Amino acid sequence: MSYTLPEFLAHAIALEQEAADRYLELADMMEAQQNNAVAAVFRDMVRYSEMHRDEIRARVGATELPKLKSWQYRWRTPPEVGGEEGFDYLMEPYHALRYARGNELRAMEYYRDVGAASSDAEVKRLGAEFAEEETGHVAALDEWLARTPRPSATWDADPDPLP
Ligand code: ZN
Repeated sequence: MSYTLPEFLAHAIALEQEAADRYLELADMMEAQQNNAVAAVFRDMVRYSEMHRDEIRARVGATELPKLKSWQYRWRTPPEVGGEEGFDYLMEPYHALRYARGNELRAMEYYRDVGAASSDAEVKRLGAEFAEEETGHVAALDEWLARTPRPSATWDADPDPLP
């Protein structure tokens, strides 16, 4: 997987858009449960993702980007939720934060691995820079997780154990 710069930028835009969409859903879900504090966290993450997407678009300028038919980065649905309609499942704030954290971690690994695998110096540089940014998002979610009570009924399968 050695991306050219346009390929890398196209994937990065798609990744940030996906994150913005998912965070918006999570924010709405938390708001429906009157959890405005966690909803606000997710709304901030929507803004960061959109800002990052727009920054990348600005740097793309007039460069023609490849159209992505399919790509490997997609947010996973929560483990107990089967399919799209299940996403409205009444998720606890703790679970929503854990879910987001798991996906931020995957985004970090994705940027890091793509950067490391590329022979293009700019892709290497941007991959490392974006991975750093995602590491910051993981840390922000960790802070919120530390403040959020863990529900007594936990998921049976915990796909992303905290280190
Ligand atoms: Zn992020």
